[in-house]
Amino acid sequence: MKKKQLLIAGGAGFIGSHFCDHFLQKGDCRVLCADNLITGQEKNIAHLYSNPDFCFLKQDVIESFDVPGEIDFVLNLASPASPVDYQRYPIETLKAGSFGTWNLLELSARKKAVFLLASTSEIYGDPQVHPQKEDYWGNVNSVGPRSCYDEAKRYAESLTLFYHQQYGVPVRIARIFNTYGPRMRLNDGRALPNFMTQALQNEDLTVFGKGLQTRSFCYVEDMVLGLERLLFSGETMPVNLGNPEEIPIIDFAQTVIRLTGSKSAITYRPLPKDDPMLRRPDISMAKELLGWVPKIGLEEGLKKTIPYFAENAKNVL
Ligand code: UDP
Repeated sequence: MKKKQLLIAGGAGFIGSHFCDHFLQKGDCRVLCADNLITGQEKNIAHLYSNPDFCFLKQDVIESFDVPGEIDFVLNLASPASPVDYQRYPIETLKAGSFGTWNLLELSARKKAVFLLASTSEIYGDPQVHPQKEDYWGNVNSVGPRSCYDEAKRYAESLTLFYHQQYGVPVRIARIFNTYGPRMRLNDGRALPNFMTQALQNEDLTVFGKGLQTRSFCYVEDMVLGLERLLFSGETMPVNLGNPEEIPIIDFAQTVIRLTGSKSAITYRPLPKDDPMLRRPDISMAKELLGWVPKIGLEEGLKKTIPYFAENAKNVL
């Protein structure tokens, strides 16, 4: 049987590299991973270099590019995604969402491939509707510090939809909510890598504001399965993917302290501008259309994640 050919842009990143692993483990796929390594890391994919079905291409998707042969699926996960990263690289992030998405859609049209956009819960901004359903238009500050990411992804969704309507490209749009697990960069600035490294070093955990803002964290294995279901579905409209188990950030910090057996205390830092106060996905669409629900609860997922941070935190001591 002919193997499916996948191009995974951003395949050296946190979610992208788990996606590469997942498809290669199935045995019926070949994976071409394209990444400019701005926030992705070669060590996430180095174990795949000896696999004949895997190929790495150091490529910035904001430049137009072509690849030889057939491609059946193009997955666009190429963008800085943590607030610290995208605020450090705002123009690169805007270009990844616009030119990057455009180039990958053009490639999909040429290759007659299915295109999947990794969009985000950030398109809902600081939401006034809770939990967030796909038909909510969001509350985004177009000139705020998060706008480089939020607006790039909103534009990317629109571009994706119109490539489908105008050129018939089969598209999928995943709105990915907070996801965590092994291979997050220790210094990516997100709550989970910060709390884990701080707890494992018995340093104070830095909670922003009073920690009453909420998030809903999905373990990466669940996310990969949800993305796969969406890819193979016929759904062209955006679908939320995330774990609806919602937790205030202060409770999240305390859970990390407890599960790591840390002696850390908590210190409070100012709440960053435009930090969303609430976030929880309504995943009824994913349940109905894809038959997907996340299976790994927060404590179980954190326990699976601790060994990775314990191993890697040693190197930053
Ligand atoms: N946060 C925190 N301490 C940190 C890092 C983040 O309290 O050291 C908070 C942040 O203000 C936000 C939440 O944790 O309310 C989640 O932040 P993260 O950067 O993980 O992602 P976001 O969901 O904001 O994109």
